[in-house]
Amino acid sequence: MKIAILSREPNLYSTRRLVEAGRERGHEVDVIDTLHCYMDITSSRPTVRYHGEELPRYDAIIPRIGASITFYGTAVARQFEMMGTFNVNESVAISRSRDKLRSLQLLSRKGIGLPRTGFASKADNIKDLIKNVGGAPLVIKLLEGTQGIGVVLADTAKAAESIIEAFMDLKANILVQEFIKEAGGADIRCLVVGNRVVAAMKRQGAEGEFRSNLHRGGSAEIVKLSKEERETAINAAKAMGLNVCGVDLLRSHSGPMVMEVNSSPGLEGIETATNLDVAGKIIEFIEKNAKQNANRTRGK
Ligand code: ADP
Ligand code: GLU
Repeated sequence: MKIAILSREPNLYSTRRLVEAGRERGHEVDVIDTLHCYMDITSSRPTVRYHGEELPRYDAIIPRIGASITFYGTAVARQFEMMGTFNVNESVAISRSRDKLRSLQLLSRKGIGLPRTGFASKADNIKDLIKNVGGAPLVIKLLEGTQGIGVVLADTAKAAESIIEAFMDLKANILVQEFIKEAGGADIRCLVVGNRVVAAMKRQGAEGEFRSNLHRGGSAEIVKLSKEERETAINAAKAMGLNVCGVDLLRSHSGPMVMEVNSSPGLEGIETATNLDVAGKIIEFIEKNAKQNANRTRGK
């Protein structure tokens, strides 16, 4: 097969591993810089051009579209979908995953376990917003944050009120969430490919840190999932319409709770922690599913 990886960074671990896994299995694999793709969207025969030439027909694309280029990246992915090329994660699903509120609303609609969450832009009654998610301690998150930046734990309702007020003064959109204390500063990253969890790791925050992000000094190790955790991760991926994703869970007294679903999950952390060939599983998924016009939405 002919596979294209849409990525701005050919040297990144995840990109390199996907190229390697594809070639090992006898496929032709190209890395295409998403931002260098251009196209005539009004043409009756949709194509993608790259460095002055029309790109060849690919059997499948693997989009690795960073959050900062979601807008252009999903347009490129959509163009491939219009050409009937199999896209591992459809553009519509990537857009959903980049919007935390839309994602949580979709997950909640499917009855998937979530921490009690409220959101507001200009709450005229902050006390009620806090009360509504069960009071302090609670977690306040900037909607635009990544890698744990902009995630704050407020121990008391008073503290929560001042933090919320401060964020709102800055015109930042925030999300207010029940604090899952029993998670103990750890979360579970489940790597879903197709209808299976192919690898899972537990990330533990540094001493005295409630955030488990590896960028914040957390550590990771392989973990065995319960049946319920496995099912929750798979259902979350389905609700989002993602074939390949990282589902982050918190272990709570009332079962697994989904925190977020990542449509371009990094492979380095999970492959290192588990010693599993996740990239290979993604290529295998393509081998089984990549057919012309097999995407559901085709950009609609
Ligand atoms: P980011 O997307 O920036 O990584 P997250 O929402 O994933 O932000 O939060 C960062 C970390 O903080 C999580 O990995 C988790 O360890 C911790 N955390 C986030 N929300 C909660 C919560 N409601 N209860 C307990 N811990 C949480
Ligand atoms: N095609 C729709 C859209 O682009 C899908 C809506 C949804 O996410 O459920 O918004």
